This record gives sequence, C-alpha cells and structure tokens, in this order.
Amino acid sequence: MGEPVVRTAKRQAMRIMGHQFVMGRTIAEALDNSLAAGNRRYRYTFDMLGEAALTGADADRYFTAYTSAIGALRARVGEYADAEARPSISVKLSAMHPRFERSHRRQVLADLTPRLVDLCVAARDAGIALTLDTEESERLELTLELLEAICREPRLADWSGCGIAVQTYQKRAPAVLRYLIGLARETRRLLHVRLVKGAYWDSEIKRGQERGLAGYPVFTRKPNTDVSYLACARIVLEDGVDLYPQFATHNAHTVAAVWHMARQSRREFEFQRLHGMGEDLYAEVTRTEGLGVPCRVYAPVGEHEDLLPYLVRRLLENGSNTSFVNRIVNENEPIENIVADPVRAVDGYERVAHPRIPLPVDIYGPSRRNSSGLHLADGAVLRELADRMQHVSRRPWIAGPLVGGRELDGQPEPLRNPANLAEVVGTVGTARAEHVGEAIGIASRAQPDWDAAGAEPRAAALDRAADLYEQSLPELVAMCVREAGKTVPDSIAEVREAVDFLRYYAARAREDFGKPERMPGPTGESNELSLHGRGVFACISPWNFPLAIFTGQVAAALAAGNSVIAKPAEQTPLVAGQAVRLLLQAGVPPEVLHFLPGDGAVVGAQAVADPRIAGVAFTGSTETAKLIHRTLAGRAGAIPVLIAETGGQNAMIVDSSALPEQVVIDAVQSAFNSAGQRCSALRVLCVQEDIAAKVMRLLAGCMNELVVGDPAFLQTDVGPVIDAQARDILEQHARKIVQGARWHHRRELGPATANGTFVAPLAVQIDSLDVLEREVFGPILHVLTYRARDLESLVDAINGTGYGLTFGIHSRIDSTVRRVAARITAGNVYVNRNMVGAVVGTQPFGGCGLSGTGPKAGGPHYLHRFAHERTLTINTSAVGGNASLLAME
Ligand code: FAD
Ligand code: NAD
Repeated sequence: MGEPVVRTAKRQAMRIMGHQFVMGRTIAEALDNSLAAGNRRYRYTFDMLGEAALTGADADRYFTAYTSAIGALRARVGEYADAEARPSISVKLSAMHPRFERSHRRQVLADLTPRLVDLCVAARDAGIALTLDTEESERLELTLELLEAICREPRLADWSGCGIAVQTYQKRAPAVLRYLIGLARETRRLLHVRLVKGAYWDSEIKRGQERGLAGYPVFTRKPNTDVSYLACARIVLEDGVDLYPQFATHNAHTVAAVWHMARQSRREFEFQRLHGMGEDLYAEVTRTEGLGVPCRVYAPVGEHEDLLPYLVRRLLENGSNTSFVNRIVNENEPIENIVADPVRAVDGYERVAHPRIPLPVDIYGPSRRNSSGLHLADGAVLRELADRMQHVSRRPWIAGPLVGGRELDGQPEPLRNPANLAEVVGTVGTARAEHVGEAIGIASRAQPDWDAAGAEPRAAALDRAADLYEQSLPELVAMCVREAGKTVPDSIAEVREAVDFLRYYAARAREDFGKPERMPGPTGESNELSLHGRGVFACISPWNFPLAIFTGQVAAALAAGNSVIAKPAEQTPLVAGQAVRLLLQAGVPPEVLHFLPGDGAVVGAQAVADPRIAGVAFTGSTETAKLIHRTLAGRAGAIPVLIAETGGQNAMIVDSSALPEQVVIDAVQSAFNSAGQRCSALRVLCVQEDIAAKVMRLLAGCMNELVVGDPAFLQTDVGPVIDAQARDILEQHARKIVQGARWHHRRELGPATANGTFVAPLAVQIDSLDVLEREVFGPILHVLTYRARDLESLVDAINGTGYGLTFGIHSRIDSTVRRVAARITAGNVYVNRNMVGAVVGTQPFGGCGLSGTGPKAGGPHYLHRFAHERTLTINTSAVGGNASLLAME
C-alpha cells in the first residue's frame, strides 16, 4: 500500500474514532453537544486535548485554550439547572509547561503557579470547578505542590471548586488522600477528589524496569488496584468530610461496591465516566428509577490532529484483557468472573506481586541482577544523593599509577572541573616509562594462575565489584560530574552501565569459560573445546564514558582470564582510579590489574608497542585506533588482537508519517544529551521535506527549553564539553557550517557558563552529507532534508561515509522501517525512539567500518575475542579397547 492511501485511510479512521471519544472540536461545539436533549442528564467536565508540551509556544497555546474555554463556559453557566450541574474544567499540567518534571521543580513552580492561579480565579469567577488530572507517578509530587499553592493562594481563600484526580493503582494513594484531607481541613475548603484507577499502568512498569527502581510505584495485579480503589473510596467517604467524592470508573462491580458504601455514609457524591465509554452502565446509574446517582462525563475537546495519543490510551484501555469494558463484551467470559469480588481474589494470592512481572532488579533472570538506579523524583532520595556527593567532594581526589598493588608517585598534575575551570577537583600522578615496563612484567607472570583459577573466582570478584560500585554510587556520580562534566542523570546511568558490564561479563564467563564444551565426534574419543585468557591486555579508554567503558574493557579482559594494564583517558583518571580501587577491594589480585594514568601518546603508545601485550581493547577516535593498529602490525613476535570501538557519523531518517513531536524529543535527547559527547550521538537528522518545516520549528522551540549549565544541578540538561581544545574545534566547525546555511538555530549561553568550556547547542541545515568531513563530537546537530523518492540513495550516502555505528528511523510505516533497516550498515539501529543509551546485554553496542572492529561490547560474543581457544582430544580406547561401546546392549 502506498503512503497516500495509508494517509487517507488513517485520516478517515481517526475521524470516525475521533467522534467516538471527542465531544467537539471547539469548546462551543462541545457545549452545544452537552446541552443537546439526550445529553442533559449528564454533567460534564471539559478537557482541552493536548499532550505534554514540547515548547514554550505549545504551553502558551494550551493555557490560552483553557482561558478561553473558561470564558465560554462562563457565558453559558446560566443554562444549567444548578451549581452541581454546571460543567467543570480538567487540566493536564504537562501540557502547560514544557519541562513539567521533578528535575525542573523550581522553574515549574515559578512559571506554573501564577498561571494556574489565574485559571482558578477565572474558574471561580465563572462559578465552575477545576480539576487537575494526574499523570505519570514521577509528576505526582509536583502536581500536589501546585494544588497546595492554589489552596494557599489568598485570592482563592474559601474557594471550594478545585480538585485533583487520585490514582488508586499507585501504592501511595491512601497516603495521598490523607494528605488531601489535611490540606482541605487546613485551608478550610472542600476539595474535589476524583478517584481513578490510573491510565499509565504499562508505562509505569516499563519505566520502573528501565530505571532499575527498587520496586514499582503501582500494583502489578489488577485486583489489587480494584481493592485499593475500594479502600480509597472508603477513606474518602468515611474520613473525607472535607472532600467531595467523584468516582470515575466504567467497571460495574466498582460502581456497585462504591454505591453501597456511599449509601451507608449518606454523603453527596457523583460518578464520572469518559465520553464514549460506559454509556449503558450509566444509563442505569443515572436513571431515577435506577441508582439515581449523577454522573459527570469527561469530555475531551480538540482537533483531530491532537487526538492520537489520547485515542491510543483509550483504545489500549478498551482492548486490554484485564479491563472491565473489554471483558463485559466477551461472550465467552462467564459473568461471575467479570464481577468477581476483588477482595476475595487478593485474599487468595500467596504473594501480592504478579508472578510474571519480575521486580526491576530481576528482569535478567537468575544469571545476573539488573543494576539499581535512583528514583530521581523522590525528594528524600535526592537529598541523600546530594549529601553524599557533597561529602565526597570536600576533599581533593588523587590518582596515580597503581602497579602490583603499590600506589606509585608520578608527576602530579591538577585536574579541573570543565564546568568551572577555576575549580581543581584533584591531582593525577602520571606513570613513567619504568612503571609501564614493571606493570607488564608483573602482569605477565601473574596471568597463568589467574587463568588457571577458572571462571568462577574471576566472576565472583567481578560480582563483588558490582556490589561495591552500587554502594559507592553517589561518590562515583560526584566524580563523573566534576571530573568529566556529565550531568547527574547521565552519571547515574554511567555507574549503572559499569555495574551491568561487571555482572554481564561475570555471567558470560561462568557460561562460556566455566567448563569445556564437549564436541561431537567418533566413539572411542573425547573432544573438548575450552577458552583461556590470551595473556596481558592493554585497556585504553576515552573520557566520555570514564567509568563505564573503562570498567567494561577491564572487566571483560579479566573475566576471560587475562591480566590487565588499564590506561584511562588523560582527562578522567580520577574516577578510573577509584574504579580500580574497588576492583582490587573486590578481590581482583593486584598482580593482575595495574593502573597507568598518563598521556596516550606516551604511556598508551609504550604499552601498545610492548611485545608482551597480547591484545589491546581500545575505545576512542578512529585516528588513534589506526595508529595503534599500525604499531601492533609493526611489532615483532606473536600477532596481537585489537578490539577497537571508534567514532560515528550517526544519522536518523524521519519520513513524513513520523510524529514530529516524538521525533524532536528523540532527536534532542540523541544530539544534545551529554553535550553531544557520546559516540552514539545523533549528528545528522534527515527529514523528509514534507514535514521538515514543522520539525525544524519544534526543534528550535525544544532547544530553547534546554538548560545549559553546571551539571551538578539536577535541572541541567547540557553540561560543558570536556576541555578548551574540544570547545575550540567545535566552535570553529560551528562558525564554518552556519555560513551560508539556509537555516540554523542556536541556544544562547547564560552567565552560568562563563567559567567553563561550554558550547551552545546548535542545529544547522546542510545540503549534503559531503560537507561533513569527520565526526563532530559535541552538541551540534546537522539537519538534512530529502525527497521521498530519494530515500534509498540517502541511505546509501549514509553508508558511504564509511562509518557504521548508530542509526535511527522514525516512521509509522512498517515496510519503510524494514526496508531502511535492511539497507543500512550501522551496528545499532533504533526505530521510533532515541538512539543513545544502549543497555548492556540488551542492545550490545558497537559498529563496523570506520566505527570499529567489533565484537559488540555488552554482547554475547565480546569475551571470546579476549580468549584463546584450545581443544583437548583424548583417545579413550587407546588402552584395552572402547569400554563404553562394548558396554552397550
Ligand atoms: P477496570 O477495567 O476495572 O480497571 C482497569 C484499570 O485497572 C487500568 O486502567 C489500570 O489502572 C488497572 N490495571 C490494569 N491491569 C493492572 C495490573 N496488572 N495491575 C494493577 N493495575 C492494573 N487516569 C489517570 O491516570 N489520570 C487522570 O487524571 C484520569 N482522569 C480520568 C477522568 C475520568 C472522568 C475517567 C472516567 C477516567 C480518568 N482516567 C484518568 C482514566 C482512568 O484511569 C481509567 O479510565 C481507569 O483506570 C479505568 O478503570 P475502570 O474502573 O473503568 O476499569
Ligand atoms: P582518543 O582517541 O583521543 O583517546 C582515547 C584513548 O586513547 C585515551 O585514553 C588516549 O590517551 C589514548 N591514546 C591516544 N593516543 C594514543 C596512542 N598513540 N597510543 C595509545 N593510546 C593512545 O579519543 P577520546 O577523545 O578520548 O574519545 C572520543 C572518541 O571516542 C570519539 O571519537 C568517540 O566517537 C569515540 N568513542 C567510541 C565509542 C564506541 O563504543 N564506538 C565509545 C566512546 C567513545
């Protein structure tokens, strides 16, 4: 099917479904509909369709839409029978601020509080209520803070029209209700509480796993959410005299149970349903001869182009196997099951958690634990992290050569914080030539025993190191922030990646190196293949992942039975030195692991040239990799192994079916996170010309929301580049590339960046890939537009750069995705998501061509390149015949 047909069909389908779930395209249309004869038996709450704002302009548009909706309602409130029957307004906060995130708390409160107060004042003056929708659990505390600000606003004293949705799938729902009861009482008002089960269940589970949280914020079994709903209903009805109860559900059992409870409590309350859902149920509920309880309809208002994400949530809800509205129309499902008592179901469980939803720590099964992350939306967690980071930053950090467990003196040099060059974070002693020779000597002698000890003790030491890294997370994060200029979230991800490498290679070593593999062959003979360390490996790593890549190389070499000479990047020896201390503390013998900080061209080059080095694991620039390759090739003696992971010219192709908002979120993350200093970072965004104008407009708006500054602050999105040399190279490129460019947009730098090596994020249009001669390692995104018919030649041109590291596709047409993915030669291809942050063991990482030799780091084949293979063949019939053959019946 061609794209135009798909587009027309899609538009038609959207229109049909849009009518089902949307009340009107404008508030006037929605109001007219709500006042139509058949609809008058319901109350209404209107929601302006819109998703999380990407840009300040989106947020402004949404705010204006609400302001005028309230005006429109005000003009017509007289047409409703009484105050309760009047429509209200429901507000989605993420659509009113482009950074509605915990990390941007201060800014969000400063920007949003006055806006929300204005809306509430307008709603109060109009005589209507306003309810805050609740979204992802990470945004709950911010939402509550804003509600509290409204309640404490003098201009809104005594106003009893504001409210909030409370999601009972969240385990903390009862605590939230207690808090709301206290708030209502203290600020002497009635708060509206809309009890919902919650609309983001699947994404809460996914996010919990991705972030390595200790547990999920939500229940994992549906009946637990149902029971929680009933328990919360009881709290509202029995203890919440200061709350106005609104029960939003389409589940007939929930309705019945709540109704019974509410009758006993003799409280005023209403039910709520979504427009387009639960009509039959609520026809009974609202009928005077039925339950006779009022129901308010949540009615989205907006254009079809804003509908899709809302529609997807509704379709998922309607299609879910556990959902009441799906089960009730399933003729094969007995009605007793559908209306089964959730309390009894929960009583019957041996354990509360769903048996098929493992905890985040267990998602990789019994062979290895997932690394633990931090819940950065939790104020208590943030305070503890900040305290420990500050504590460890009080004393200066020191690193120096570590040979055979001895800390040696080197020529000390200061290391400066790239975010503030006036700040010396520590000193490093550089290894001398004799240190290198001595380390390689000790390592060579120790390696055979380390190899012969077998995989288990090696793996056990790496597992212990992983635990030590996790315990030291705040210290390691502080070092990544201050020495490498990485943001706090990036630094946490860095520690987690290092931990994953340690556990993954430990698990692979147990699996592949633990015992020999029996090979098939003729009877009377046993054949075995076993894997062994090659000797001494030089591990040479870059500064951009100063802990993760450093640890990954070293852990792999050790796991495979090698001893290691570890050479960190010049810019980041402090965190690497700390990693070595933890590895030694975990039980890696000091004769096996040596640390040699120093200049690449001196220390690195000397190690590489030494014929006792059996292999080199290198990550860094393509130029250095080639230099090392030449040195190794020119060496006398055995042919060494080179594993090189190098740079990329990474592109993302976006066709006209893609969702521009999602494209821009993913492109901005891929291009500007870590100040663009990831080898996987997006360098060329290739957009089909039909949607290019919109994508570029959103891109510019989204870049304006980036916070560039000191990475020690949680709100910082883009920190400094690593040093003055890197900054100068990037600025030179920026100057050249914007000259004559048809379009470019640059984020301005604020005063907070004056003392560091910052580069303002830049997006610039180019006319051809040919203008890019080499990798541009920083926050500069090139944008290239293409015509639909040139898609294949564009893919060929990307392949033609010779690099092959990461690649992204944004398209909603499966055949295009498959066609492009099959043609591109990049090592890591990402579809409809960002293209950075490869996860160990899930997205093994590494490229081909100018981007590296492979095998992929964090993948099942990596350890093998660090190993020798040996076969052992024993003629079992040599002495006196083939006993096992003769014993057969
Ligand atoms: P049921 O079928 O009984 O319950 C389905 C719900 O159970 C799912 O949505 C999920 O919450 C939960 N669930 C499903 N599987 C599991 C599982 N394995 N473990 C644990 N729980 C599970 N949602 C929001 O998040 N924020 C809002 O502000 C909001 N506003 C709303 C306003 C109104 C008026 C209405 C009617 C709904 C609103 N919703 C909101 C959506 C609401 O969360 C869903 O419609 C609701 O969860 C469906 O529950 P139910 O009782 O109708 O159906
Ligand atoms: P770099 O090549 O300058 O340095 C990397 C390491 O090599 C450093 O430890 C350096 O001291 C050492 N070195 C330099 N000259 C040497 C020599 N002659 N002999 C031996 N060692 C020598 O790279 P960088 O600037 O530190 O890192 C950025 C580069 O790394 C970028 O090109 C990026 O794309 C690449 N990178 C690739 C990956 C990947 O997995 N493909 C991951 C991260 C970074």
